[in-house]
Amino acid sequence: MITDNHGRKVNYLRLAVTDRCNLRCFYCMPEEGLNWLSRSELMSYEEMLQICALLVKMGIEKIRITGGEPFVRKDIMKFLTALSKLKGLNELTITTNGVLTAPYVPELKKLGIKSVNLSLDTLDAGRFFAITGRDEFANVMQTMEELLKHGIEVKLNTVVMEGKNIQDLIPLVELTKELPVSVRFIEEMPFNGDGHIYNGLKWDYVRILEEVSKGFPGIKKVTDPLFSTSYNYEVPGHKGGVGIIAAYSRTFCGTCNRVRITPVGELKTCLYDDGLLNIRDLIRQGIAENEIAATLLTAFNTRAKDGWEAERLRVVHKGVHESMATIGG
Ligand code: SAM
Repeated sequence: MITDNHGRKVNYLRLAVTDRCNLRCFYCMPEEGLNWLSRSELMSYEEMLQICALLVKMGIEKIRITGGEPFVRKDIMKFLTALSKLKGLNELTITTNGVLTAPYVPELKKLGIKSVNLSLDTLDAGRFFAITGRDEFANVMQTMEELLKHGIEVKLNTVVMEGKNIQDLIPLVELTKELPVSVRFIEEMPFNGDGHIYNGLKWDYVRILEEVSKGFPGIKKVTDPLFSTSYNYEVPGHKGGVGIIAAYSRTFCGTCNRVRITPVGELKTCLYDDGLLNIRDLIRQGIAENEIAATLLTAFNTRAKDGWEAERLRVVHKGVHESMATIGG
């Protein structure tokens, strides 16, 4: 078991397998894309598997594959298959935008994947295009249908954006009436790859709840599961649930159990830090596994108390402007 210097259990890894994405959500990356990583900079699947196996031996129990968009990386299913066989890994899950995912759903089910986070900011095809820059709404909806058809739990990730999708909040909660999906409204963060200027948070978790309550006055708080990053609610009579993630207000750091690895192997023990060490480099230098494990433990033992401290301690990038696609949202 891994415990950090603040007594928090660390058992959850989020691994970003690529920085590339087939959408251009304006709050995540600029229309022209990013300065894409070269193949040699990216970790190979073998390297990622080696790191995951080591971390699972050390006490990681859950791995989420994210990106960029995981399904744009070639042979992702082979990698997921190998990961799913790791002994000691209790849960393998994915965050995807759903553009390419639908045909893979039966295979995901066979691998034992029980839950998928699907990013969806609107239920209107026109607004989807305005937000993502791509005409892919129908494919995302098809992925949602396929996931539900195969009995895979769906959590919708919805970034709440002034002037873009406020009119979607109520319809998204309405969707949970008949469908067993959980919609999670996320505060917009400054990680936009400088795609647009971040003018401060307009919709914090309190305002989001007020807005949702206007349409659903009966909405009720429910107990948050252990390590939950969302405040969780239910609307009586609805099959699905509602969550609000205070990603910018950072109210959940006290129970944070997660670490991240970027597509180039940078370890982040907080979303807001700028990387503590590069595991890919340690592997490529041929450092022995027990030494890598010791280095990782040192990193886990010098974790920032919360996202505010992590942001203050940044050395390389002083502002948090890099894209979520490079840090594993
Ligand atoms: N491509 C996959 C997807 O879209 O789900 C995985 C990577 S994406 C970076 C992961 C999540 O980060 C998405 O739900 C996205 O909406 C969220 N995200 C990206 N930039 C964000 C920002 N500036 N503020 C809040 N959430 C953001």
